Amino acid sequence: MIKDGWEAIIGMEIHAQLATATKIFCGCAVLTGGEPNANTCPVCLGLPGALPVLNKRVVELGARAALSLGLEIQETSIFARKNYFYPDLPKGYQISQYDRPFSANGTLTILTSERDDQGRAVEWKPMTIRIERMHLEEDAGKNVHEGLPDVDKYSYVDLNRAGTPLGEIVTAPDFRTSWQAYDYVNHIRRVLQWVGASDADMEKGNLRCEANVSVRKIGEAGFNNKAELKNLNSVRFMQKAIEFEIGRQIAAHERGEVVSQETRLWDEKNQETRVMRSKEDAHDYRYFPEPDLQPLAVTAEFISRVKSEMPELPDAMRDRFTANYGLSFADASQLVSEKSLADFYETTAKASGNPRVSSNFILSELQRELNSAGKSAADSPVAADDLAALIKTLDAGAINNNQAKEVLVEMFSSGKTSADVISEKGFEQVSDTGAIEKIVDEIIAANQTQVEAFRNGNDKLMGFFVGQVMKASQGKANPKMVNEILRAKLAKL
Ligand code: ZN
Ligand code: MN
Repeated sequence: MIKDGWEAIIGMEIHAQLATATKIFCGCAVLTGGEPNANTCPVCLGLPGALPVLNKRVVELGARAALSLGLEIQETSIFARKNYFYPDLPKGYQISQYDRPFSANGTLTILTSERDDQGRAVEWKPMTIRIERMHLEEDAGKNVHEGLPDVDKYSYVDLNRAGTPLGEIVTAPDFRTSWQAYDYVNHIRRVLQWVGASDADMEKGNLRCEANVSVRKIGEAGFNNKAELKNLNSVRFMQKAIEFEIGRQIAAHERGEVVSQETRLWDEKNQETRVMRSKEDAHDYRYFPEPDLQPLAVTAEFISRVKSEMPELPDAMRDRFTANYGLSFADASQLVSEKSLADFYETTAKASGNPRVSSNFILSELQRELNSAGKSAADSPVAADDLAALIKTLDAGAINNNQAKEVLVEMFSSGKTSADVISEKGFEQVSDTGAIEKIVDEIIAANQTQVEAFRNGNDKLMGFFVGQVMKASQGKANPKMVNEILRAKLAKL
């Protein structure tokens, strides 16, 4: 919650590692871990005279990312040197893009909601975010500090990560609350994974986000100094850091202090942000065009080819599920929370011919089993076609709903087909008209007093007859058929 009379201005920067097999300007593999500096060559070590060559796959995945975020891919973009000194950057500059980025002018609609005290969403609403740009650049190496303090402490530079391709996604300062930023980052993560542009896993560091936060009195037109928040290792930490920072800045302004332009880190242990360094301005980096690389020209044919290879995006799929399959917005949203789940649903819905029941079984029984097994729909032991077969058996009236749920759980744990589980459990219903008629005749003959009362208008006795028939069939008679046959026979008496 933001103090009355104040508002927060938040812009987001996300570095997403593009999921290529090799680095952006050399042929070294992109790996995590491994022997320090083993995964390097003269180009990514920054040795004099080594020349970068752009990896075409970076451009393809960059295009996928840009298109999935509503960005326009620029016909020509230019790589630039961003000059700064740091031990993990042996060239003394990072190859990035500056005034001519790969893509620009994006608008992205996300769903966002404030949260209540329990962290539950209050009301999901659409919000349109302006994405200023996504440019391509190389990652730096890592400074590693290892060993126990005062015992075996040493530091070294590991350049295995140097040259890993990144897309840097920069928004306009359009967010007003920490939860909007939180929902935005989750949207970006899901969509980049969905189109295969990035693994977008914050824990592994292949998606890193920074938040630029300032506050001002409502009604003020200008901006106050902003803090850039870094070291945000999870979306939740990021949300807490922004929330803390908004409160800190408002309190400082109210005390009449100047809030300085600086980079701050989130300290999870103490639940606060603290100063890391004062923030450089762009001119401090002395950007200039990279003389070793040609301008990057992207043709319309290339863009339409990439477009044609992209999967349907999650929001479009959600809208199609509500329109074509009659699902609620909430159910459809849950189904598109992950691509493998959405694909699983669609296969099941088509194969079973019953999209509503498919959604119910997937979102309740199957999701519960998947969650407790720590699996995603992609590695579900029950394939979509198996689930569809079960739903068809249910629709045919051969088993009832509770039995179908029980069968699904057993299919999940045993890997058996629905037909095998149904016969093992003895769930097959008797749907043979002759067999049911025989039992109905017996029950009518044995309960003449009740038959008389029923004929005199006591309709409630229908339940009694159905119960007797079900009992006589040991619960195996198809209840729908029992009802129909009973009514027909009693009417004819
Ligand atoms: Zn290399
Ligand atoms: Mn960057």
